[in-house]
Amino acid sequence: MGWPVSHSRSPLIHNYWLQKYGLTGSYVQLPVAPGTLATAIPGLKALGFKGCNVTIPHKVDAMAFMDEVDSNAKRVGAINTIVVQADGSLKGFNTDGYGYIQSLLDAKPNWQADAGPVTVLGAGGAARAVVLSLADRGAKEIRLLNRSPAAAQALADEFGNEFGEVVKAVPWAARHAALSSVALLVNTTSQGMHGNPALDLDLTDLPRGALVSDVIYVPLETPLLQAAKARGNPTVDGLGMLLNQARPAFEAWFSVLPDITPELQRMVEATL
Ligand code: NDP
Repeated sequence: MGWPVSHSRSPLIHNYWLQKYGLTGSYVQLPVAPGTLATAIPGLKALGFKGCNVTIPHKVDAMAFMDEVDSNAKRVGAINTIVVQADGSLKGFNTDGYGYIQSLLDAKPNWQADAGPVTVLGAGGAARAVVLSLADRGAKEIRLLNRSPAAAQALADEFGNEFGEVVKAVPWAARHAALSSVALLVNTTSQGMHGNPALDLDLTDLPRGALVSDVIYVPLETPLLQAAKARGNPTVDGLGMLLNQARPAFEAWFSVLPDITPELQRMVEATL
């Protein structure tokens, strides 16, 4: 369920798995206009759905229509997966943070969250899941920068209750200097996405060994990743997060934890 959803690659991913594991069913796009969740979500049960994903702009609002929300999703403050349980009740999950961490580990199996400071750009929906998962994983210092400073401060304050001083809001104007000594740089803003201008970021202060990750997957190689690669930094694109967030969702619906095969990866890449 999303608005719009026509761009979503999730049908490709889940229908590939349904076929691979010999399961009957299909994953369909459900364009659900803002303001209509109250009728759309309860319809899942009547229509015989195992569940669904929720995406922009419904990730936060959908929580209100769940009978139960998983504890991790409560902490993130948003859901991306709904499961229609055996008794017909609805449970919400958020698999974005799992997907993000797994994408780093798939690319760099020895990656460690506490290898050094982390700079996260952006404080929107994706940032919430990314920052929380990095803090959960043991990051010791997360510098959080957002164009609108109030959102970064609000996230730092909220996560401060649980993680103390780990998440620090840093002014957007200081983003170039905030790259010094980091082990990981993450872009969760929409800058660099197809149709948007590139992120305005000078990488001069970024250590050459720092891992640079962008959660954007259209295009696969954003201007940020291109610039990072050109100076020798290792990079991780957003496709790994997209594929990995889908795995636990599929498992929650069908009790099979599916594999990300090279064939699936190629199929999705061919559409980007
Ligand atoms: P949100 O709308 O919640 O957040 C957008 C973020 O981008 C905000 O921090 C916003 O800052 C920032 N931003 C927007 N315009 C500018 C600008 N001109 N300069 C600097 N910052 C700007 O979106 P999401 O967090 O849901 O998504 C962000 C990106 O992450 C998208 O490209 C999306 O496709 C991708 N994504 C990828 C996923 C994956 O699986 N790989 C999963 C989820 C998202 P401000 O608060 O100032 O507006």
